[in-house]
Amino acid sequence: MKIGFIGECMAELSQAGDGLLRQAFAGDTYNSAVYLKRTFSQCDVQFISGLGTDSISQAMLDSATAEQVGTELIGRTDKLTIGLYQIHTDPQGERSFTYWRSNSAARQTLSLMNEDAKHALCSMDMVMFSGITLAILPPPEREALWALLDNLKQANVKLVFDINYRPALWTNRTEAQQSVKRGIEYADILLPGVEDFSQLFELTKLPDIMAFCQAGGATEIVLKNGAQEVHLYGDDSARTVTIEPVKKVVDTTSAGDAFNGVYLGARLSGFTMEQATQQAAACAGFVIQHRGAIVDASQYQTFVAQ
Ligand code: ADP
Repeated sequence: MKIGFIGECMAELSQAGDGLLRQAFAGDTYNSAVYLKRTFSQCDVQFISGLGTDSISQAMLDSATAEQVGTELIGRTDKLTIGLYQIHTDPQGERSFTYWRSNSAARQTLSLMNEDAKHALCSMDMVMFSGITLAILPPPEREALWALLDNLKQANVKLVFDINYRPALWTNRTEAQQSVKRGIEYADILLPGVEDFSQLFELTKLPDIMAFCQAGGATEIVLKNGAQEVHLYGDDSARTVTIEPVKKVVDTTSAGDAFNGVYLGARLSGFTMEQATQQAAACAGFVIQHRGAIVDASQYQTFVAQ
C-alpha cells in the first residue's frame, strides 16, 4: 500500500534540561509519515515537500531516509532552506510554538514538484494534507495544490485531511475558514480535532460538527478530543471509542499527528475504524509521555513490540 504526506518538515528545538535545546526534525504531516512507517513497515510511505540544498536541508533528508520515509518526490532549491520552530511546554505538558519559517522551501512545494512526482502521486492509495499544508502556501501555490488534488481525485486516490488550525499561520480567519472548508470538501477521510471547529467555525456541539463534515462529502470521519473519547463516523453510522487518559503528560506535541499516522497505517492494513482508532490512541498516549514530536526510535520500537 502506498501513501503520500504533503507538507512541511522543520528543524525542531525542544527543552533538553539545564537550559539546553535538543534539535530534531518535525512537522505535522511528516510526523504522521514517520509514525505510520515505524508502526506498519510494509507500507510505502512518501513525504512530499520542498527542501533547500544546504546542509540542514540535507540533514532533514537524511533523517527521513533513516526513518525509511521516501524522499524521492521532494523538490529542491538552492534559494531556500527549511523552517525552524521551538516548543514551549507548560507544567501540564500543553505546548505552544514559536516559528521561523518565512524562508522555508516547503512554501514552494508545488512549483518545486516535477511531473514525475505528480504522476507518482496519482498511483498512490492515499494522500494526506493538512490545514498547515494549506496555510504555509502562498495563494498561487495553494491554487496549484487544489489542481493537484483534483487530479488525484480523478485518479481515485483517497484524500485525507486534518484541519490542524494554527491561527498564526493564516493572514486572517476568513481566509482560513474558506481554505479549510475547501479542504474538507476534497477529503474522503477527515481526521480533525474538536478544537479546530470551535476556534475556526464556532461549532462546539458534536451533531453540528459531524453534520458540517458530512456535508463536505467525507465518508470516514474521526474526531479527536484530547483525553476524551474519539467520535467516529463511517459506513453510514456513528460510534465512539473511549480513551485511557495518560496520568503524566510531558509534551502533547504531535499527539494528533502520531494518531493520524497510525490510524491510516492500520486502515491501509485492513483494520476496522475502531481497531485503527485504538492503535492510534495507544501510540498518541505513548508519544505525549515524551518530549518533542518524534520520540526516540528504539523506545518506540519497544512500545510497538509490547
Ligand atoms: P491534537 O494534537 O490534534 O490537538 P488531540 O489533543 O485531540 O490532538 O489528541 C490526539 C489524540 O491523542 C487523542 O485522540 C488521544 O488519542 C491522544 N491524547 C491526547 N491527549 C491525551 C491524554 N491526556 N491522555 C491520553 N491520550 C491523549
